[in-house]
Amino acid sequence: MPEQTQPDNIAADTKPPLLWMQTILFSSTLLIALIGVPWYGISQGFTWTGWLGFVLILGANGMSITAGYHRLWAHNSYKAHPILKVLFALFGAAATQNSILIWASGHRRHHRHVDHVDNDPYSAKKGLWYSHIGWMLRDYPASADDFSNAKDLQRDKIVMWQHRYYLPLVLFMNIAPAVALGFITGHMLENILLAGVLRLVVSHHTTFFINSLAHFWGRRPYTDENSARDNDFLALLTYGEGYHNYHHIFQNDYRNGIRWWHYDPTKWLIKTASWVGLTWDLRKIPDFKIQRAIITMQFKKAEQALRNRKGADTNQFTAFLEQEYQQFCDHLNDWNAVSQRWVDAKREHLAEQKDALQLNLAGKKETLQHNLHKAWEHATLRSRLQELEYALKMQRKRLQMLTLEIA
Ligand SMILES: [Zn+2]
Ligand SMILES: [Zn+2]
Repeated sequence: MPEQTQPDNIAADTKPPLLWMQTILFSSTLLIALIGVPWYGISQGFTWTGWLGFVLILGANGMSITAGYHRLWAHNSYKAHPILKVLFALFGAAATQNSILIWASGHRRHHRHVDHVDNDPYSAKKGLWYSHIGWMLRDYPASADDFSNAKDLQRDKIVMWQHRYYLPLVLFMNIAPAVALGFITGHMLENILLAGVLRLVVSHHTTFFINSLAHFWGRRPYTDENSARDNDFLALLTYGEGYHNYHHIFQNDYRNGIRWWHYDPTKWLIKTASWVGLTWDLRKIPDFKIQRAIITMQFKKAEQALRNRKGADTNQFTAFLEQEYQQFCDHLNDWNAVSQRWVDAKREHLAEQKDALQLNLAGKKETLQHNLHKAWEHATLRSRLQELEYALKMQRKRLQMLTLEIA
């Protein structure tokens, strides 16, 4: 028989090798959740304590990922007390999504190269399956450890401790709470199935939704330069991470859902913890910048609607839109100038305070007059900034109405 050779242009298998440990972990836990859990429910029935344990540990895992891994370590959007960091590190390990160091450095690459097919570790451009779980099942180069973007995390003792002891921590934090609940309630198998396996599966897939569904399904009010979406339903499942379009444009904001009615329990946890000194330096994007992003998108949408509209009355809309755009540019220029003046005034004030201390407060009367003048200047600048913010808000409303009219 002639020897068969493979043609050069057909690669045997271009996919990277399968990662067996991950594949077995994801598929075996999923099978138990789909078959073992309903079987036990039908044959034995679950108790309310079993469900309570499930919900509490699920919440602790989820929030350790969203508030800890994501908003604290990956984005530095606030600072946290070591007690809180240790809790996040422990319950984050229970969520079994890799160590903080690996997770956060990969996530920073996701933001930096979002949607890039080779450099974004969970690029949505490679499909829903890939961005949800496929990227973890094979040894893809984009997921290779590279901590060059995480030097700050390598200096964090809690991060490095968790990284070093990740495997024993995963085993302990997955087994111990479920077994302890089993001893307390006398329903060992029930707790292993609910607080152990089902909790892990639900925790996995809800977090993975942020990489997959939140890049496919929802609205894009702030930017259309990447695939990230805002989705209220996903926010319910992901402790507030469903406002992903906002998050991708303003990643250093400790909030993802910025309005008070947005469901963002991660934001509420971080804010509440700040009242008792467990968190501080919470970073917020100025409202003006948020309005600027929304209005930029509104102009894009209005122009698109205008292009799609057929009829003789487009001239009037075009003129109105041009006038609005000119006003928008003027507001932005004003904002930049006043903001710069604000920063300069603050810097001058600090320098003067230092000088006054050195001079041992010589000439107290002049200093008082001078401070009053400065305070007045600050108040004027602040009210000008607020006026500009308000003007943008009004413009946003006008554009909203205009787009509706054109469409
Ligand atoms: Zn994303
Ligand atoms: Zn992020």
